[in-house]
Amino acid sequence: TTRIVLAQRPHGEPTDDDLRIETGELPAPENGQALLQTLYLSLDPYMRGRMDDAESYAQPVGVGETMCGGTVSRVLDCPGGEFQRDDIVLGYGGWQSHSVENARHLVQLDPDRAPVSTALGVLGMPGFTAYSGLLTIGQPEPGETVVVAAATGPVGSAVGQIAKIRGARAVGIAGGPEKCAHLHELGFDAAVDHRDDDFVEQLTNATPDGIDVYFENVGGPVFDAVVRRLNTYARVPVCGLIAGYNATSAPEGPDRMPKLMRRILTKSLTVRGFIQTEFWNDQKSDFHRDMSGWVADGSVKYKEDVVDGLENTRDAFRGLLTGKNFGKLVVRVSD
Ligand code: NDP
Repeated sequence: TTRIVLAQRPHGEPTDDDLRIETGELPAPENGQALLQTLYLSLDPYMRGRMDDAESYAQPVGVGETMCGGTVSRVLDCPGGEFQRDDIVLGYGGWQSHSVENARHLVQLDPDRAPVSTALGVLGMPGFTAYSGLLTIGQPEPGETVVVAAATGPVGSAVGQIAKIRGARAVGIAGGPEKCAHLHELGFDAAVDHRDDDFVEQLTNATPDGIDVYFENVGGPVFDAVVRRLNTYARVPVCGLIAGYNATSAPEGPDRMPKLMRRILTKSLTVRGFIQTEFWNDQKSDFHRDMSGWVADGSVKYKEDVVDGLENTRDAFRGLLTGKNFGKLVVRVSD
C-alpha cells in the first residue's frame, strides 16, 4: 500500500517534507473489518487544521500517522460478511491506496443512483454543511439577500442554490472571471470577484438592499467588506475561515475587534459558528431526501475537480487553500 503520512507539523503552507509518501504493508482484516481499495479520496480545507496540534474541535493527526480523510472505496475482503467483494462503500480511509476499516463505520453506495464520488461532495459532508448551516442558522426568507464566498466550492455552491430554492436572492463571491461565470450558470443572481481591485464596489452594486444572511466560509478581507453591508437582524453562520488556515501570525493593523463587536450590537446581528456534525443525527434523513431530490431534478447542480493519482494529492491540497481548485476537489486514487 502507498500512503501519505504527516512527517512533521507544517509552518504555513504544508511542504512535501511535512507530508511524506511511504509504502508499506497493511494488517490482514479481522472479523468485523474490511480491506478496501481507495477509489476516491476527498480533500477538504479542515485537513489543514488536523496537521496542527493547536486546540480544536477534533484530535489532530499524530506525527507519523496517515493523513485522515473521507474515501469512496471498493471492498476487497470482509471476513465478517458485512459486505461482499466489489461493494462500493463510503468510509474514512485517509490519504492511502488501501485501508482496513471497521465495517460498522462504512456506508454502502449504490453506483446506479448517483456517481459514487458525490458521496464526498454534494450528497455528502460538504452538501450537508451547506444545508444544515444555511437552513438552521441562516434561515433565509423569500426576497432576502444571501451572500456566500468560496461560492464555486462544494459548500458555497450548495448554499447559493438552496438559498434560491428558498426564494432568496443569491450573491456569490469567487476568485477570477471563470469562477464568476460559473456562478451565473448555477443560477446565482450576481457574482463578485474578490480578486478584482474594485471588489468592494462590486459587492455594493450586487447587494443594493444590503445583506440578510452571510454564510461565512473565508474570513479575511472578504469578511471586512461584507460586515459593512449587513442589515439589522442579519444572520451569519460561521462555517469556515479558509483565508487564515495557513497563517503563521495575526493580521497586521489596528485591533478591529471592538468595532466588530459594536456592529454586532448595534445591528442586532446573530453570529453563530457550527461544526456540521452537531446537526447530523437530527437532519440527515431530511438532507438525504431533499438533496437527492434537488440533484435529480436539476435544482442543485454540482461541479467536481478530479485530480488523478495519489502522488498528486499534496499539490492538489496546497491548491485548495489558494483557490486553484474549481469545484469539489477529489483525488482519483484507482479505477
Ligand atoms: P472549497 O472547494 O470552496 O475550497 C476552498 C476555496 O476557498 C478556494 O477554492 C478559494 O475559492 C477560496 N479561498 C481560498 N483562500 C481564500 C482567501 N484567502 N480568500 C477568499 N477565498 C479563499 O472548499 P469547501 O467548499 O470544501 O469548504 C468551504 C469552507 O467551508 C471552508 O472554510 C471549510 O473549512 C468550511 N467547512 C466547514 C465545515 C463545518 O462543519 N463548519 C464543514 C465543511 C467545510 P476562490 O478561488 O473562489 O477564492
